[in-house]
Amino acid sequence: MLGYFDQEAETASREELVILQLGRLKRLLNVVSVDNAFYKKKFLAHGVRPEDINSLADIVKLPFTYKGEFQQDQAENHPYGTNLTEPLKNYVRYHQTTGTTGKPLKWLDTRDSWTWRGRCAAMSLAAAGITAKDIIFFPFAFGPHVAYWGIFEGAWQLGALAISGGGWETLQRIKFIMENDVTVVACTPTYALRMAEVAQEHGIDLKKSPVRITFHAGEPGALIPSIRNKIISSWGAKPFDYPGLTEAGAYGVHCTVQDAAVHVNEAEFFFELIDPKTQLAIPGAGTGEMVLTNLGRSCSPAIRFKTGDIVKVSENYCHCGRSFRLLEGGIIGRVDEMITIRGMNVFPSQVGTITEKYLQIGEEYQIIASTEKGMANLKVLLELATDRPAEQLIHNIAGELRSTLELRVEVGTVAPGTLDRSDYKSKRFVDRRER
Ligand SMILES: [Zn+2]
Repeated sequence: MLGYFDQEAETASREELVILQLGRLKRLLNVVSVDNAFYKKKFLAHGVRPEDINSLADIVKLPFTYKGEFQQDQAENHPYGTNLTEPLKNYVRYHQTTGTTGKPLKWLDTRDSWTWRGRCAAMSLAAAGITAKDIIFFPFAFGPHVAYWGIFEGAWQLGALAISGGGWETLQRIKFIMENDVTVVACTPTYALRMAEVAQEHGIDLKKSPVRITFHAGEPGALIPSIRNKIISSWGAKPFDYPGLTEAGAYGVHCTVQDAAVHVNEAEFFFELIDPKTQLAIPGAGTGEMVLTNLGRSCSPAIRFKTGDIVKVSENYCHCGRSFRLLEGGIIGRVDEMITIRGMNVFPSQVGTITEKYLQIGEEYQIIASTEKGMANLKVLLELATDRPAEQLIHNIAGELRSTLELRVEVGTVAPGTLDRSDYKSKRFVDRRER
């Protein structure tokens, strides 16, 4: 089933999208260059005015926005910083980043921008095939982080029944799901698997529940084959990814056609792909850093926001009717994980995806980046089942890495039980590079 929340916007052609995006970008710039102290100062310092932007290609005249700038601004301008276009009384929602580095960023929304966030979420829910007939359960403690708040608002706009299961024990939540005909569960992939474990311990078969969709934010997983397959086999439901950022908003639309790719919602965001080394645009398909401008949140915008996330833009377009571009595998890495080996840029996740194809259940691997003789080096360690011959396998994996990534990577083995078990690609990557 191909679902839309706003069919006209979601099925716009590339040409129509350009017109839509340019109009909204110009309106945004006109407002913020007058009323938003943060961007007014930034644009002045950069010597750029809204009237300099006459095509989408002109966006490169605007400076990038870095997370560190927002952090510094909030440190200097207590408590919310100066990225506020409207008087403080107009803001109705507060959220903060989960941030692994530095102080969390505080983010405010007005009624209008919160409605916009809900609209983005409703588009993503509809794309997953969720409708007003669905009952969505949120086994999530609704704290200050935005992830499931946005989806809760999206469910409201879609007209689906949304039920918060915050503050409950896992078993209580499972029983609730079984007793209330819940059809969609919105939680992290890790928690979906935790619920499956607890259900099994109590002799409850989640496959017999009416849950047909699991909807995931806050963590990758719905696009990672190993996790995806575990969710499908334990829940008998189809997992969907809903990637987003507190600063820019939720840009991801995971449609029913795609198992391993997610659209960028180009009706609501202007998306740029840049080379992490040169900072220049990568036209068309390719791998690079995602830069986002949100087009519906003038009250606290993110304009040319450098996400630090590495994505791979597909050469192909989807059959779902959306002309939004596709990101293969979602977020495939972070800019600071990029390794340049003999002039080639490579991300540990690309090596992991190739390696995983050759491994059996129970086998593990680790990718190690190091500095040898002043040069970056990459090594893959395999932990194979005891009775599995290694030589041919090593040859095959090294061969595919060489042909796909144009890179010679050393592949070796370690004794069984050596490597940590992990569900996440990031934990399988060990960075020992000298900086
Ligand atoms: Zn699609």
